Amino acid sequence: MSQRRVLVVEDERTIAESVAARLRAEGFAVDLAHDGPTAVARAQALHPDLVVLDVMLPGFDGLEVCRRLQADRPVPVLMLTARDDETDLLVGLAVGADDYLTKPFSMRELAARVHALLRRMDKLAGTANHQPAAITVGDLEINRAERRVRRAGVEAHLTPIEFDLLVHLASRPRTVLPRERLLAEVWGWSDASGTRTVDSHIKALRRKLGPDLIRTVHGVGYALEVPA
Ligand code: CA
Repeated sequence: MSQRRVLVVEDERTIAESVAARLRAEGFAVDLAHDGPTAVARAQALHPDLVVLDVMLPGFDGLEVCRRLQADRPVPVLMLTARDDETDLLVGLAVGADDYLTKPFSMRELAARVHALLRRMDKLAGTANHQPAAITVGDLEINRAERRVRRAGVEAHLTPIEFDLLVHLASRPRTVLPRERLLAEVWGWSDASGTRTVDSHIKALRRKLGPDLIRTVHGVGYALEVPA
């Protein structure tokens, strides 16, 4: 629940699979892309929390991917460079990569860097990485242990999936979560044809908790914002 999502971009399948396996073992939800254009499309659809990005890619290279991602929506990037190439490195940092690893690297080192980068981002964002038992956003109170929800002191009765969807949105208030990402994380589907399912559950949450709680960002997804 409210798992961190990492997009791994690497055309060498064995490396991509090892990185993905290690990050999954560390508790991350992992998506893969094997070329530049797919990487940009996946990042735009899923809004990952972090991108592990190889420099040498078919389509267009990792530097171009990084440039496009940062222009679209800033995201922490851990760059993988094939060699000790200072030019790649300097350009990488210039286009918005936050850290880099030179191949070959150990999976242990990769995991350590990913955690460190996310911790740094959390600190910057002023949010903690742990999952609190209770979430309060404005007049919305969520008790995760008892799976109870109250708004302005009035209890709402949610279905299990509505509850999980609400927790997802409330864990990152004022953050736009794409429908594809909600579908993947709440329902466990990666098929974008199910996004209407998300819409209908959002409708139910609005009916039960008030129409002003969840903002629609057209063409993207939803954000939970309790009016002050
Ligand atoms: Ca490569």
